[in-house]
Amino acid sequence: MKTRGGYNIRLKGKPSKGLIALKEPTILLLPLKTRRFSFTEIHVKDAERVVQGAVLASDPETQNLPLIAPRGGTVRLSHTPGHITIENPEPEAAKAENRWPSLYEIPEGAEQKERITRSLLRKGAWQFFTDAFTGRVPDPAVAPQAVVISTVNLEPFSVRGDAQLEARLQDFLRGIEQLQPLLEYQPVWMVFPIFRSELGVKIREFARGKAWIQLHEIPRIYPFDNERLLAKSLGLKAKDGPVWSVKTEGIIAVNTALTYSMPATNRIFAVGGPSVAKPSHMVAIPGYPVDSLMEQVGLTEASRLINGGAFTGTEIGEANRGLDSESLCITALPVAYKREVLSFVLPGFQKRSYTNTFASLIRPKFKERITTALRGEKRPCINCGFCSEVCPAGIVPSAIHKAVFANDFENYDKLRPELCVECGLCSYVCTSKIDLRQEIIEVKETIRKEAELLQEGATE
Ligand code: SF4
Ligand code: SF4
Repeated sequence: MKTRGGYNIRLKGKPSKGLIALKEPTILLLPLKTRRFSFTEIHVKDAERVVQGAVLASDPETQNLPLIAPRGGTVRLSHTPGHITIENPEPEAAKAENRWPSLYEIPEGAEQKERITRSLLRKGAWQFFTDAFTGRVPDPAVAPQAVVISTVNLEPFSVRGDAQLEARLQDFLRGIEQLQPLLEYQPVWMVFPIFRSELGVKIREFARGKAWIQLHEIPRIYPFDNERLLAKSLGLKAKDGPVWSVKTEGIIAVNTALTYSMPATNRIFAVGGPSVAKPSHMVAIPGYPVDSLMEQVGLTEASRLINGGAFTGTEIGEANRGLDSESLCITALPVAYKREVLSFVLPGFQKRSYTNTFASLIRPKFKERITTALRGEKRPCINCGFCSEVCPAGIVPSAIHKAVFANDFENYDKLRPELCVECGLCSYVCTSKIDLRQEIIEVKETIRKEAELLQEGATE
């Protein structure tokens, strides 16, 4: 695999592979807004009794993908703003009545593809698919040029592929086979890390003799598991059509939808970070209250909770009091008083760092100067070049930062911010602790809006 940039990050607080048992939830708080979805169409009424698998809401902007009740219970619409609440969730709830046939009940023929697609959409499995080049949910009616299935999560504190597959390897392998009727001649790439493991051997054995599956190994260096980087490293090009990218949890959801005609509500979840007493994996369901979860894994000090990994996650607040339907991990970072761990995840320039990438760790005076500058003063780029060294997209984040600082909008295009995969490594290594990732996200948004305005002007 041809790669550039990346960084091998080793941080305290990695979740252990074993699963801890969570208590049965007494309430479920399902956020209506997640990273990619806004479930604005509500399909249930206040006080309505629902069964497991019922559609509570859907996202009209994204193929009407459903927000599914992970358990039966009584719906409350105004219990927690921004959430659908399920009171008294039933541990052994009945299946939804509007059941779709499982894959094995669908006859082969012209209708098969359509019925499988509908089942994946209706059972929420399709929400785990991403077009590697656009980052959006792909249109299942448009044939992809390839499918890339990855078992690798390299962002610090993300759910581990081996923990996800430990007891579910057969479900995973069956899920891969079940995708085949949706394809014609397109290759399916299976990505796993370069190292020999029992799981790797089993996956290789499964793939042997299946001409439509090709294997691809990657180094365990962040962020080489990124969908877009994977597609590029496989020689795939955006102009040749969408690339369906899906990870372990998505393939398991495909199997659950097509074999059992059920939504995959139970998923392997991770909680990690330096302030977590028991960084662990567990089986959790969407809506599981974050407070209860954190009580069970324990925190050693005041912490900021991040929905997602340490580099790309977003702060947990009032809008996500329960695990959302996309959540796979929570990262807990100590709230800084003297020094702050991974401070780049906070907005703005007022940050500290705790990484040995920074001279502050070995030069106390330098460290002290940074502390002063963090109190309200933006620090200038010192041209150390670390950001471009680690950038896997081959761009120069400091140049974009300088263009932003100088309001030099004319030059944005030349700097290719659209190539950024938003991994956050540049922010992590930046000596001046500039939030380069956030700046580049905002630049991309500005360019997108300008392009939209131009298009609107052209069609008037
Ligand atoms: S510019 Fe984008 S792709 Fe490059 S390191 Fe920063 S966040 Fe990652
Ligand atoms: S890492 Fe930070 S200080 Fe160094 S060149 Fe990049 S933006 Fe400038």
